[in-house]
Amino acid sequence: MAILSVKNLSYTYPGDDITPPVPALRNVSFSIEEGSFTAVLGHNGSGKSTLAKLLSMIYTPESGQIVLCGRDMTAPDVTEADILAARREIGMVFQNPDNQIVATVVEEDVAFGCENLGLPPAEIRKRVDDALAAVGMTAYARHAPHKLSGGQKQRVAIAGTIAMRRRIIIFDESTAMLDPMGRREVMDVILRLNREEGITVLMITHYMNEAAMADRILVLDHGGVLCDGTPQAVFGDPERLWAAGLDVPQTTELLYRFRGLGYDVPIAVFDADECADVIAAAIAKKSKKAKEVR
Ligand code: ADP
Ligand code: MG
Repeated sequence: MAILSVKNLSYTYPGDDITPPVPALRNVSFSIEEGSFTAVLGHNGSGKSTLAKLLSMIYTPESGQIVLCGRDMTAPDVTEADILAARREIGMVFQNPDNQIVATVVEEDVAFGCENLGLPPAEIRKRVDDALAAVGMTAYARHAPHKLSGGQKQRVAIAGTIAMRRRIIIFDESTAMLDPMGRREVMDVILRLNREEGITVLMITHYMNEAAMADRILVLDHGGVLCDGTPQAVFGDPERLWAAGLDVPQTTELLYRFRGLGYDVPIAVFDADECADVIAAAIAKKSKKAKEVR
């Protein structure tokens, strides 16, 4: 079942006396299945963050429809209470881990959102403990967040959204400022939340290998949807992505070039070992053929 769907969604940043209005999204339509993992790709300025803010009800659409958990959030009779309820379903994790810390002790930081929800202290305690365990940060509960690594800070930020029991989490380039190890830690947590806790994930990223782990990829270009499909389908057409100024996973690029040399290989392969196997098999097949000809 779709947990979130948008139809012909558009948004323009209003201009003023000096700056003209900026159309950021134009007629975007798609729907997200409950429990799915969607990666959102697009070059800078393509409208990814604007989309994230519309979906999390931070912005109000200029036109179009957003249906969240069966409620049409753009219907004329939608109330302030409906919007508040919708905001409780969606959490966001941003790019800069430092901007998301609000407390001086990790567990207090994770509890912050729950306290705002007005939950009883015993319930908060349980949720905070569960959330810290889910992101592998239990041992740091009493630590000072500013002393943690970037990856650990992001995991604390994620724990805050888990503690609030968000059904959908949008990650807006949440791994962009991390070193490779931090990126891997955060990716592992995102994958686990999706696969084991059934949390619906939308992950905006510039890392093609991360996008290849999603069930589905949505590519934005100049405020519109350029492609929408499985990683196999989207990365299987690299020319379209290159034309939009985007990359494909390194394995796909390598196999694409290899295919250009006359080898018969699939290109939507994202695992390095699998890619090596595909190349080895194609070389063996070609040399066998050459021997037969001789
Ligand atoms: P992305 O996240 O894909 O880089 P954004 O959604 O941030 O893209 O931006 C989409 C377009 O909207 C860009 O042209 C950007 O310059 C413009 N934009 C983003 N935020 C604002 C803002 N607060 N005011 C005016 N224009 C904005
Ligand atoms: Mg952005």
